[in-house]
Amino acid sequence: MDMPSVAFVSLGCPKNLVDSEKMLGLLAEAGCPIVSEASGMAEVMVVNTCGFLAASRDEAIEVLRQAAELKQEGKVKRLVAAGCLVQRDGQSLLEEVPQIDALLGVHNRGDIVRAVTGRSPAELRNRVSNTDDGRLFLGAYHPNSWVGANRSDRTRLRLTPSHYAYLRISEGCDQKCTFCTIPSIRGPMHCKTVDEIMAEAGELIADGAREILLIGQDTTSYGRDIGDGPGLAGLLRTLNALDGVKWLRLMYAYPSDFTDEMIDAIAGCEKVTKYIDIPLQHINDRMLKAMYRRVTRKQTESLLEKLRDRIPGVAIRTTLIAGFPGETEAQFEELRDFVRDFGFDLLGVFGYSNEPGTPAHRIEGHLPAETIQDRVEALMLTQQAVAFAKAAARVGDVFEVMIDDYGRDGIYPARHQGQAPQVDSLVYVQGGEHEPGDLLTVRCTAAREYDLIAEPVPSRLSILQ
Ligand code: SF4
Repeated sequence: MDMPSVAFVSLGCPKNLVDSEKMLGLLAEAGCPIVSEASGMAEVMVVNTCGFLAASRDEAIEVLRQAAELKQEGKVKRLVAAGCLVQRDGQSLLEEVPQIDALLGVHNRGDIVRAVTGRSPAELRNRVSNTDDGRLFLGAYHPNSWVGANRSDRTRLRLTPSHYAYLRISEGCDQKCTFCTIPSIRGPMHCKTVDEIMAEAGELIADGAREILLIGQDTTSYGRDIGDGPGLAGLLRTLNALDGVKWLRLMYAYPSDFTDEMIDAIAGCEKVTKYIDIPLQHINDRMLKAMYRRVTRKQTESLLEKLRDRIPGVAIRTTLIAGFPGETEAQFEELRDFVRDFGFDLLGVFGYSNEPGTPAHRIEGHLPAETIQDRVEALMLTQQAVAFAKAAARVGDVFEVMIDDYGRDGIYPARHQGQAPQVDSLVYVQGGEHEPGDLLTVRCTAAREYDLIAEPVPSRLSILQ
């Protein structure tokens, strides 16, 4: 029995990307040829959706509809929808895209081969050729699905360039931020053990990863459900001893759970990048309370000061929400002043998205869409001035970069420690010949808006960053 060829579209965040890579690994192991969508050779299309916000939902439905057209034109035979939107919407997604043949929730990614082939595990084992063309709904959430072998992200077919990889240390979230759909989609937090994480890191390094990005919905709470133990600080110290990896980057830290021990571990582990990604969402106390962030402005400022004092050269990235229900003009101005005065190295802004099923959906004072959009733009403009000034101030600095891609016309995209892949600005290195994953010392010669221009310098010069 020939296994069908599969084209795979992965939408959404790095956590969804890891699920996509795992499903691709399972399909490849089962013997399915993996082909690009553009090749015209796919028999089955899989769309791994994001359902976090209304905008991501719209994008996923649009991609599914395009895939459905391919099916109607006879260019693909089967369409599988997977991921967060399936987990969130269930079978009602069939009303939007009736051509879907199989629905696969986030907790059932292990059933991807069954969803793609339409055959039961017994049929697959015996390679029986009769197909079951009935629709499969495999997305019902059950809290114990992320246990044992089911939660392993090993044996992935990676979609990132080989020199960096995402390593998920936990799944789900126990926080109760009032605007967020994630806990209802991904369930409560389940952490991998340190041994599982080390084994996975070893596999990623053997596969060429020189930078490993630690991800989870809330990485600072790492270890809580498995008896805490040394927690995130201990995990960072253990990973720091691994040979082969050059940079370890921590993403998605939650402010109220950031301990002194974690700060010391980040400062003291030479492979851990001096980069803190800490979504703060707001700074006004009433807004923070309405969002149920369990942290005040005073506590936030004291944590940020501590991070800057104890981690020399740290780059701090945050994300904010503009236009949360009830946000007054004065509260928004407080947030804007804070952005201007603190000077984040990197910053993203989301306009509040009204998500059914969340506590914030039910509270009073939802703002008009135009007001939300105006506030997003005002915050981005404020940050733009901060970021441009920070980039200009780096001219003349000498620091280490990792080459991120092959060069074009002798110019190589690269990143320094304060820049994460996909979301942050870049350093463009002019001169020399390099490969993705190479580490080299450069001198910054110019700034172009958010990005830096640099040239290689002999490695005997000291690194000032
Ligand atoms: S920490 Fe808050 S915003 Fe982040 S996933 Fe958990 S509930 Fe959502």
